[in-house]
Order: sequence, then C-alpha cells, then structure tokens
Amino acid sequence: MSEIIKGKVSIDRRLCKGCGICVALCPKKILLIDEDSKAYVTEREECIGCRQCEFHCPDFAILMVGEDGQL
Ligand code: SF4
Ligand code: SF4
Repeated sequence: MSEIIKGKVSIDRRLCKGCGICVALCPKKILLIDEDSKAYVTEREECIGCRQCEFHCPDFAILMVGEDGQL
C-alpha cells in the first residue's frame, strides 16, 4: 500500500463561496462542488496532502487537519 498522509482536508461549508479554485488546483482531482455551491472531498484517501487547496482558497475555507486535530 502506498504511503498514507496523516492528515485530512477539512472544508468549512460556511466559508466556502464555491469559486472552484480548489477544484481546479487539486492534482488528484478529488475536490468537487456540490449542488449548494460548496466544495467537498470525493476520495479522501487519495489526498496527497499537497495543501494547494488550502493555500489558494481565497476564503480560508480549507484546512489540513492532522490526526491529532492539529497542523
Ligand atoms: S477555493 Fe475555497 S471558496 Fe473556492 S470552492 Fe474551494 S473551498 Fe470553496
Ligand atoms: S491537499 Fe492537495 S491532494 Fe489533498 S485535496 Fe488539497 S489539493 Fe487535493
């Protein structure tokens, strides 16, 4: 099995404006926009932890959260 990133992407739906920047930037293509114009993660286990989504979200709606709740 390939290396598992010890963290997860957390998207705050209250802050997300549905701009789609994270969807476009994710190299694994695991982010999508739902019918409420909010981003969500499709295959969380595929996330490589690159943090492109977190760095580029203009509304600070994405955080990478470690297993211990920190990062
Ligand atoms: S970049 Fe941020 S505001 Fe834009 S869709 Fe993604 S989570 Fe939402
Ligand atoms: S950390 Fe990287 S791979 Fe994971 S959801 Fe964000 S952009 Fe995609």
